[in-house]
Amino acid sequence: MTAPLRASAYFPAPRTQHFCSQCGSPVVHRVPDDDNRERALCDNCGAIHYQNPRMVVGTLPVWQDQVLLCRRAIEPRLGYWTLPAGFMELGETTAQGAERETREEAGARIDLGPLFSMIDVPMADQVHLFYLAQMHDPDFDPGPESLEARLFREQDIPWEDIAFRTVSTTLRLFFADRRNGRFGMHTPSLDAPSPATVPAST
Ligand code: ZN
Repeated sequence: MTAPLRASAYFPAPRTQHFCSQCGSPVVHRVPDDDNRERALCDNCGAIHYQNPRMVVGTLPVWQDQVLLCRRAIEPRLGYWTLPAGFMELGETTAQGAERETREEAGARIDLGPLFSMIDVPMADQVHLFYLAQMHDPDFDPGPESLEARLFREQDIPWEDIAFRTVSTTLRLFFADRRNGRFGMHTPSLDAPSPATVPAST
C-alpha cells in the first residue's frame, strides 16, 4: 500500500530546532547557565527554547462485549489499528481531548468513564492517557484520519496489526481487568532507558 501524499510530513521526536521562533536567527545547542540540559538558545535575542513531552489522549470505547478500534489513514503506522487518540490541544482538559479525538476519529457518541491507563513513553517523549468510554449505540462514522472503524470482541482483536504498544498494552489490561470483574487505573512505562544509556547530567 502506498501512503497518500500529504501536506504535512511526519517528523518523529526528538525534534531538532534550527531557527529561533522569536526572531528567525539560527539557534545554538548548549546548556544555559543555571540549567543542566542542552537547550536551543538564540544568541541574537536571548530566547531559550524548551521542549517538553507531549500528551496523547484517547478512549477505549466499549459497546456491550466489544471495543471500538480505528484503522489509521495517516502516518505513522498507516493501515494499523488503534484506539481513538491523538495529541492534546492547547486550552483543553485531557478528558475533553479524549472525547474530541473519539468524535473526530471514530464519530462515536460516548459517555466518558474513568481514566484507565497513563503510560509513559520516555523514548518518544510522550505520555499516553486512555479513558474508558461507554458508547451510546453501536453506530459510528470514522473521520478522515481513519480508513475504517470496527467493533471487536476480545478473540477477534488483530493483535499483530495494532499500531502502538500503548494501545495493545491498554487493551490487554482492559481484558484482564474485565475477566477479574474490576477495572483499575494502570500506570505502566514503556521503553524506559536502562541507567547505562542515560547521559550523565552535569
Ligand atoms: Zn531569537
